[in-house]
Amino acid sequence: MIAGCPPLRSMFSAASKLAQARLASSGAFSHLATMLERRELRTHLLRVLTYHRVADVEEGSDFCPSLRSASPDGFREHVEFLMEHYNVVSMEHVYAACRGETELPPRAVLITFDDAYHDFAEQAWPILQQFAAPVTLFVPTAYPDNPSLVFWWDRLHRACRAADQPTVATPLGPLSLSSPQQRAQACEQLCSYVKTLEHGAASDFVNKICDELGEPRLGNGVLGWDALRELAREGVTLGAHTRTHPLMNRMRAGPAVTEAVESLRDLEREIGHVLPVFAYPGGAMDPEVIAQLRKTSIELAFSTQRGQNDLRVTDRLQLGRIHIGPSTTVPILRAKLLAYGRNMLR
Ligand SMILES: [Zn+2]
Repeated sequence: MIAGCPPLRSMFSAASKLAQARLASSGAFSHLATMLERRELRTHLLRVLTYHRVADVEEGSDFCPSLRSASPDGFREHVEFLMEHYNVVSMEHVYAACRGETELPPRAVLITFDDAYHDFAEQAWPILQQFAAPVTLFVPTAYPDNPSLVFWWDRLHRACRAADQPTVATPLGPLSLSSPQQRAQACEQLCSYVKTLEHGAASDFVNKICDELGEPRLGNGVLGWDALRELAREGVTLGAHTRTHPLMNRMRAGPAVTEAVESLRDLEREIGHVLPVFAYPGGAMDPEVIAQLRKTSIELAFSTQRGQNDLRVTDRLQLGRIHIGPSTTVPILRAKLLAYGRNMLR
């Protein structure tokens, strides 16, 4: 049994991040992983990977570095590994399997991207095409062709970077902005704080800080509708990701669900036929939101709750995903695919 493999789980849960990286790169792990991968034949398990941006590290980037999932070279290595050792399935296949119309292959992996940044088309998609790997892109539908609407984390990043004052007063106390490191640290702290606020208060707070620091007016970096239509024609599955990307557990359930349903309608209007699939912004779920979502046409909803999905028991509106970040080397990816079994164990 792979996902619940006790030696693997205990090896990784006891290790720090650095130790995990060393462990994953070791010959002993590689040997164990190969054996476990070969033995994995179950067809009811779905692993879903979450990427955001694929880009090299850029000094002075207009975009918050925390959304960078991999470099183009690192992403190519991921896809190469997945195509060789796993079965990368399309959202159409997953949707049919969830409806009981087909089975998944063993070692099924679904690749997903959130937020529809430009680099998906420029960096990730050409690599996926080269390997004929299916992919799903979740689009926050108020952003395409609306450059004045910018993700709040990018606004805070740009504001902190542009600030010409040594500190900024915040509810967390004064934050220093004297060096690039301090600006990055301040941005990180502000982003964490915003996630604790109710939706309206979060918007007000971001506006206030950005006004005070003199946020430069730049575009949002999100693909326009023409580019999204082109990607859909080329084979990318598009999914809904709300309209304005609110954290759905920080607002009333009614407006949150309206955001989800309307984003699906936007996709239908702009793209044509789309599957009723959805990803919670920031993975933020709420029991009342899930209950109301169940009454809509949305059939599959993806969170950022870590774990594999056992399709025999997992709630279709609470599908887990595996987060991919810049420290996810191929050995770490391999470990994540093998070691996470939280949903199944539950
Ligand atoms: Zn998102």
